[in-house]
Amino acid sequence: MSKGNIMNTYGRFDVVFEKGLGCKLYDDNGNEYLDFVSGVAVNCLGHSHPAIINAINEQAKDLMHISNYYWSKQGIELSERLCSLGDHKSVFFCNSGTEAMECGIKIGRKYGKIKGGEKKNIVIYMENSFHGRTMGALTVTGQKKYQEDFMPLIGGVRSAKFNDIEDLKNKMDNDVCAIILEPVQGEGGINPVMVEYLEQVKELCEQYDALLIFDEIQCGVGRLGTFFAYQTFNVIPDVICMAKGIAGGFPMGAIMTNEKASVLVPGDHGSTFGGNPLACAVSLAVLGELVDGGVVEKVKEKSEYMISKLNELKDKYSQIEEIKGIGLLLGIKLNVDIKEFSKKCFENKLLAVTAGKDVVRLLPPLNVEKEDMDKSIELLEKVLKSYNN
Ligand SMILES: *Cc1c(COP(=O)(O)O)cnc(C)c1O
Repeated sequence: MSKGNIMNTYGRFDVVFEKGLGCKLYDDNGNEYLDFVSGVAVNCLGHSHPAIINAINEQAKDLMHISNYYWSKQGIELSERLCSLGDHKSVFFCNSGTEAMECGIKIGRKYGKIKGGEKKNIVIYMENSFHGRTMGALTVTGQKKYQEDFMPLIGGVRSAKFNDIEDLKNKMDNDVCAIILEPVQGEGGINPVMVEYLEQVKELCEQYDALLIFDEIQCGVGRLGTFFAYQTFNVIPDVICMAKGIAGGFPMGAIMTNEKASVLVPGDHGSTFGGNPLACAVSLAVLGELVDGGVVEKVKEKSEYMISKLNELKDKYSQIEEIKGIGLLLGIKLNVDIKEFSKKCFENKLLAVTAGKDVVRLLPPLNVEKEDMDKSIELLEKVLKSYNN
């Protein structure tokens, strides 16, 4: 197949997709695939959802982009909608996850400057985390393989061991302005945070007057069975970074802050495309389906079903070490090569990608039906059987 002139930055599967419907994708030969990647937790309503198609069509007819010199009804309404779903008071719109993280880091730095002057600038991040690939987000991504070739990074950071409160205590002092973590580490291998640890992290933030920033880019927007990931753990962060599923496939990111973290003033931050009327209209339609349409409400039940089926596979096949994750952010920890396993899934027309060094991730759309979950288990079993002969 001709690869065109696309820069060689991704290891892609050898397939060209032409159409999607629900959790099915169709390639240029008409082959059907069961999509349990969902564009990496993006297509939360599956492909070609009528609410998204309609929002794009209707909004594009009226107004697509106006810049942030002006107001749009859609932006105002979306900010109110997002705040009504949780505990935060203000929203900044951007276009991607890594941009949301850049904004989060800047908020942390500005907060530090206000509270402790120039020296209160240290951002703490977790080992094994993933926050994106622009220089700031890359700096707080605790995986050397992403950073090595791009030194020097931004400086003013410290890493801590995830879920290890003693290590974090050793890293804390009055120079820390923010702690950044994913409530469930996604790319790092589907590692949920421990509630007790998280409660202590929050206390440390209060003790040292630092902001607690959650990266909910992969684990938020209903994926854990609560709209915001923090609602699953009952620990409220000062700042939430969101993207991926927030507009169901239309590029969008958002940062939400409480009163304490509302430190940015005109001129501090901006984005040309961020929060344009089209993106906001699509996100409003997605939230309508997720929340009013009862999709998020049913995630927990779907998750329990999926986890029980996966555990049945675990009991039957020695290749599976553990079933990990919460909601529909699930991982199969394997003792066989995960790249090969994910390739075998692909050959059996099941899309699933790797996470960390020993996990294959399952991220179905949040409105996945029982029959498609059953189908995924059937295909996984086919793959597992291929190891036993
Ligand atoms: C995907 C992801 C990002 C980066 O988002 P982009 O939109 O690719 O920039 C950041 N953090 C987490 C947890 C992610 O899963």
